[in-house]
Amino acid sequence: MIGVWNNIARIKRELEKRGIPHDNIIKKHQGGNDISWKCEITRDGKYKVSALRYILEDNGQVDIDNFIWIKEIPLKVSCFIWRAKRSRISTMTTPSSRGINLPTTTCCQCNSMEETTDHIPVQCVFAKSVTEWIFNWCNVPLISFQTVHDVLDYASNWGTCPKKKKRLLSICYTILWSIWKVRNK
Ligand SMILES: [Zn+2]
Repeated sequence: MIGVWNNIARIKRELEKRGIPHDNIIKKHQGGNDISWKCEITRDGKYKVSALRYILEDNGQVDIDNFIWIKEIPLKVSCFIWRAKRSRISTMTTPSSRGINLPTTTCCQCNSMEETTDHIPVQCVFAKSVTEWIFNWCNVPLISFQTVHDVLDYASNWGTCPKKKKRLLSICYTILWSIWKVRNK
């Protein structure tokens, strides 16, 4: 029990350090004999990890395992990028890692390379031409990306303006997600 109280005190200190009052996250409401707890940062009053993460991210303080969650990007897109960055999306080469051998693992779009998690959204000719077109349109110099990590790393370190950086990163999330969606169709 002492451990639980210590954890609560530690979390309270951590939030205060980041300028977030702990009673914004959870607040006691007393009506007569009824006591209830309400979260002030969500509409329905129920605490959600994602809501706190968005607040922290707005303060520029969240970089979970070097992944930047952008609140303007739908969660399903961010989750896809997060998985893609960790090579956890399904491709033709996935079954072989589980001992199932398919007749071919070559990319059906370019027929020249293995269809890996980095090939589909980044290395494939189709992905390269889409990325090149959009980078040109944004007037951002293009480099040769080999992995999803390369794309995200480039965008999150691009230029000096944090707003523009975030915008470019959002565009990259959208490019990778759109390529994936088109490929699945
Ligand atoms: Zn390909």
